[in-house]
Amino acid sequence: MNIVTDTTLPSPCWLLEESLLIKNLELIKTIKEQSGAKVLLALKGYALWKSFDTIKPYLNGCCTSGLNEAKLAHETFGKEVHTYSPAFKEEEIEEIAKLSHHLVFNTPAQFKYFSKKAKEINPGLSLGLRVNPEYSEAPKEIYNPCGINSRLGTTLENFDDTLIEELDGLHFHALCEQDSNALEDVLNNFEDKFGKYIPNMKWINFGGGHHITRKGYDVEKLIQLIQNFKTKYNVEVYLEPGEAIGWQTGTLVTTVLDIVYNGINIAILDTSAEAHMPDTIIMPYRAEVRDAGKAGEKAYTYRLAGNTCLAGDIMGDYSFDKPLQPEDRVIFEDQMHYTMVKATTFNGIKLPSIAIRRLDGHIEVIREFGYKDFKERLS
Ligand SMILES: *Cc1c(COP(=O)(O)O)cnc(C)c1O
Repeated sequence: MNIVTDTTLPSPCWLLEESLLIKNLELIKTIKEQSGAKVLLALKGYALWKSFDTIKPYLNGCCTSGLNEAKLAHETFGKEVHTYSPAFKEEEIEEIAKLSHHLVFNTPAQFKYFSKKAKEINPGLSLGLRVNPEYSEAPKEIYNPCGINSRLGTTLENFDDTLIEELDGLHFHALCEQDSNALEDVLNNFEDKFGKYIPNMKWINFGGGHHITRKGYDVEKLIQLIQNFKTKYNVEVYLEPGEAIGWQTGTLVTTVLDIVYNGINIAILDTSAEAHMPDTIIMPYRAEVRDAGKAGEKAYTYRLAGNTCLAGDIMGDYSFDKPLQPEDRVIFEDQMHYTMVKATTFNGIKLPSIAIRRLDGHIEVIREFGYKDFKERLS
């Protein structure tokens, strides 16, 4: 581990602000206390495990999507491990069953195939089924688990009543960056379809996608919905946010390498939209850049682009008060969730280092990447 300052920070580098992470966690703690819900961290969205010592005291455990995430949760987080996968594999189920506290199947077929074996290996395992409430207000089809022909979760039509005796819980996940109003609508659909089964359950898992820590999120409504649900059915309620934990807790610090002029000014950075911030291309969304405005808003406009040979490796057009020059730092805001977990070594580009600014202000560089990380993935 390497102690640095803002100016000696390696580049590119993801920089987590521990104080901002704690701010999110304090809000979630309040929700847990007032609603009685249990809250898990979804490793799919945020898995910077060297920050887990900070997170652990606030949450009940992790939700994982298969063997590798379950192992990571067990090794680095402890507490409860809940594993759901769209489909489990024969060769992995034993180890997953050993590591998990809750095991959630996607279909009655997988439940029947694996549940007995899983229980034999770990008799304390609590078994669940993911259901599809067939209702979602997700903003984009690729983020809509309840869209047409979705493979995620069992529809009411495919529900198998003979499983009821063996099921401890039901799971749904139908939100994406959404407010508690959307949860209310999903819950109504969930209850309409699966309400008759809830009295047989010990727990209901409300999935992720709750944008709890976003400014303006209706926290009171979330608490009310959970309280009402718990009172009505007398079950444990779980939430499993990923994004909301890492929301606005840190940056991607990058450096200008060169300025190219071709009709417009283009700044080539030592990072990549494609490799390091893929959701800016896939989702897509525009990342905020510190001290920058939209194109034309400030005096000097640049297209910010990546250092790979992909023509479309572009973050977008931004304007600055001063001209950009090589060695200038460009800081992308809110780059903690769905970045590190998705990053690749595409085109041999170096993965950003990872650093944490601790509460007392000092910055620890906890990981740097190099040639080995690129080479070893390819054969
Ligand atoms: C992605 C996912 C989550 C976390 O979603 P966020 O949008 O990051 O809160 C939780 N549960 C399941 C099943 C998921 O697929």
